[in-house]
Amino acid sequence: CGIVGYIGHRDAYPIIMKGLQRLEYRGYDSAGIALYDGTNINLSKTKGKVADLSGKAKGEISLAGRVGIGHTRWATHGVPNDVNSHPHYSNSGNLVIIHNGIIENYDSVRKELTNRGYTFHSDTDTEVLVNLIEEVKKQENVKLGKAVQIALNQVVGAYAIAVFDRSKPDEIVVARLGSPLAIGIGEDEFFIASDASPFIEFTNNAVYLEDGEMAIVRLGKEIRLRKIKNDAIT
Ligand code: GLU
Repeated sequence: CGIVGYIGHRDAYPIIMKGLQRLEYRGYDSAGIALYDGTNINLSKTKGKVADLSGKAKGEISLAGRVGIGHTRWATHGVPNDVNSHPHYSNSGNLVIIHNGIIENYDSVRKELTNRGYTFHSDTDTEVLVNLIEEVKKQENVKLGKAVQIALNQVVGAYAIAVFDRSKPDEIVVARLGSPLAIGIGEDEFFIASDASPFIEFTNNAVYLEDGEMAIVRLGKEIRLRKIKNDAIT
């Protein structure tokens, strides 16, 4: 039930872990983190508390990386367990997503993707969404931001999401419909979170996404805010 992301020049791990702790009040049953180390996206997740995650992540993955996303989950589709915890990879392993909310038509989308050869490792609606984004990106041959927009127009539900692409590591794409999402703007760095508490000591310059808005958060660029429904994304 909480989202944290970082992209910039600092180590992402401590910022994300501390941020997840500050979002614990929102309630959750599992926690997870994905960090981009310059080559790979390393992912660690677990049923349980943020403290359990930090214990597990230390032994499991490299904690290096200046880009990352973290999540606390309140399970709606699939029991609380390690596999259903977020983040979720797409089939290629290039995309990774965190999601709060519900994708209502996940079952029909999942069937369609299964027919196209996709496989699913979890019982979540979220893993369906990240693979839909991957499929759209491939079929339409578009960039991540555009693929997220097209995919979100094919789903019904409520969400705050953050998506990251290993092949384009200077950018995180976020969107919200029904769940809150804030972006903190620092100097050559951005913070993403369900509320401003995870980045309050780093910047007081924050943008709150409106319902139905998405943003392309790219290092060295102004944030690009777009309406999910109908704004042009190039
Ligand atoms: N529907 C998603 C799941 O069950 C996200 C739940 C949440 O909001 O944390 O995994």
